[in-house]
Amino acid sequence: MTNIQEIFGCQVFNETVMQSRLPKDTYRSLIKTIKDGKTLDIDTANVIANAMKDWAIEKGATHFTHWFQPMTDVTAEKHDSFITPVSGGKVMLEFSGKTLVRGEPDASSLPNGGLRSTFEARGYTAWDPTSFAFIKDDTLCIPTAFCSYGGESLDKKTPLLRSMEAVDKQALRVLRLFGENNVTRVTTTVGAEQEYFLIDKEVYNKRPDLKLCNRTLFGCRSAKGQELDDHYFGKIKPRVSAYMKELDEELWKLGILSKTKHNETAPAQHELAPIFTSANVATDHNQLIMEMMKTVADRHGMVCILHEKPFEGINGSGKHNNWAICEDNKINLLNPGDSPSQNTRFLLFITAVIKAVDDYQELLRASVATAGNDRRLGAGEAPPAVISIFLGDELTAIFEALEKGELYKERKPSDLEIGARVLPKLPQDTTDRNRTSPFAFTGNKFEFRMLGSASSIADTNTILNTAIAESLRVFADELENSKDFDTDVLELIKKTIKKHSRIIFNGNNYAEEWHKEAKKRGLVALNSTSEALPYITDKKSIELFTTHKVFTESELVSRRDVKLNTYSKTLKIEALTMLEMVKRDILPAVINFKGKVSSEILALSAIGPEMDCSVEKSLLAKVSKLSMKLGRALKTLEQLTEKSDDFSTNQAEADYYNDKMLPAMNTLREIVDELETMVAREDWPYPSYTEMLYSVR
Ligand code: ADP
Ligand code: MG
Repeated sequence: MTNIQEIFGCQVFNETVMQSRLPKDTYRSLIKTIKDGKTLDIDTANVIANAMKDWAIEKGATHFTHWFQPMTDVTAEKHDSFITPVSGGKVMLEFSGKTLVRGEPDASSLPNGGLRSTFEARGYTAWDPTSFAFIKDDTLCIPTAFCSYGGESLDKKTPLLRSMEAVDKQALRVLRLFGENNVTRVTTTVGAEQEYFLIDKEVYNKRPDLKLCNRTLFGCRSAKGQELDDHYFGKIKPRVSAYMKELDEELWKLGILSKTKHNETAPAQHELAPIFTSANVATDHNQLIMEMMKTVADRHGMVCILHEKPFEGINGSGKHNNWAICEDNKINLLNPGDSPSQNTRFLLFITAVIKAVDDYQELLRASVATAGNDRRLGAGEAPPAVISIFLGDELTAIFEALEKGELYKERKPSDLEIGARVLPKLPQDTTDRNRTSPFAFTGNKFEFRMLGSASSIADTNTILNTAIAESLRVFADELENSKDFDTDVLELIKKTIKKHSRIIFNGNNYAEEWHKEAKKRGLVALNSTSEALPYITDKKSIELFTTHKVFTESELVSRRDVKLNTYSKTLKIEALTMLEMVKRDILPAVINFKGKVSSEILALSAIGPEMDCSVEKSLLAKVSKLSMKLGRALKTLEQLTEKSDDFSTNQAEADYYNDKMLPAMNTLREIVDELETMVAREDWPYPSYTEMLYSVR
């Protein structure tokens, strides 16, 4: 049996290890660095590096790496061994403070969105002491930020850290106004629920689309999908259970607070949720969770698929980003307490979130914009592409009363009558759940539900943090001049809610009427990635990010271009994979099948006119008509693909992929999927949806 307490964090250079291995003053100054965000001097770094190296070597590590998060949604690492030559043909093991604190990878092949040309290939990685170093695959991994020679950020961690500082600065200003002078640090906390699919490796290996694109580009639906609701929270199959156990253990060793695991809605779909931590650590941990999900699946003869829509016709995978603001690692500022209407501080922070989400809805939408997520948002399984906030009845009523200047009649949390005497009485939550809202208040945190399963959570949290920092800045500016704080703060809440009430929607976000209503309210619907990404560099966005020193204008341009580029490249790879699958496997299979049916008709006709070949003839006619259509669709996609390299801007290219390539790809798929329903199973070159989705027993 696993001793969780013993293995938890055993691969992490955490506070306990530091305390036992570092001299007292070194430990103290490191903790100060971590807690207050102060920089570390080189002597202290030397002592820490040495202790880290000794610890890592005892654990079997031979290498170290500056582990970082380029603009690719996956992590990057270059391993260096600890060896240094000494006389006598021997080596010693070394790791200096300088090497701990800074690295100089030649990372010119990582995306930079025009911020760096290859002749200035040098980049820097800088140690982030707020996220603990850990050992993975016999390598000491040091979480780092990654920037260019000129200091521009080239990664996801730097802006996230900057945005956390922005929240800290502005939230402290606001808290001072409430007389909270002893608070030293405000951080944002995040718990990211991760959805994923598991399928058998053997089946996976027979699908070029899964191997190259992480999703099925073809495949007609299985007779049974998720309609019986029998998978969600269902009994976990033994093979999956063994996988989940090992995954938990690996994550616990890395100090990741893996907490919840269950089957999700679609067949073969599952979820893992950790306990929340600071936004920065949660982001690092989410990357490790995704990586470990794949590594462990491989050991169990399975493949973990993180794509947002691997299979048509059933739910895709998302990532729920639970987010709150926390004072000195203790007090959650989004916790209403017992009496929310009295809790002005709580109401002010909620108001800050409402204002932020309304003001920067386009940016939040852009933060989740990827080719994969476009297939999921608005498909009735995930929130639509329009952002709104669910507040729940009580909070909405409080704000409405405030807005009207009425006194709010408190609804005491009452006992819920659930009709069976044997059950204990449950206290009713002040908010009900709303599963369709993109941005829901869930009692003491907001849950942003639009994120795609394969993406890093960094971008979303960077934007969320910065937007909230901006609300708080505006509030602090106004209230710092106030002569009558108690009255003015309520006035400010009232005024702000009135201005931003359009973003609040407690109803069904999947309903058709909401889309009309949202339009009336002036909320922006951005249905595709190519429509959403330009907002990253519009005037409002540049102003926001430069004010809070989270991005410079050129950094924003580079991010937008990297994302546009990734979008186009993703679709290009998909188009090329489709063409190859059709030309080399599907078309030959169809021709082969038609040949078999034709021979059968000929053979039957040879016997004499009494033989009825109507079934065979009608099948041959249907398949032949479809294969003619297939030929045309193939040609169209081929021609469009040939033209797809010649664009003056990344935006024009992305628009081309969205407007021209996608429809052609969809048409091709429709025809192939229909053919799959007619061609003999033995002739079809790929495992079917049924075989894939029910491959893990
Ligand atoms: P559900 O699936 O019902 O939304 P879960 O319990 O699976 O709920 O997930 C809730 C997530 O929210 C967990 O990751 C949890 O740690 C996280 N969470 C709880 N409180 C906070 C908070 N204050 N800040 C950030 N995340 C939080
Ligand atoms: Mg959730």
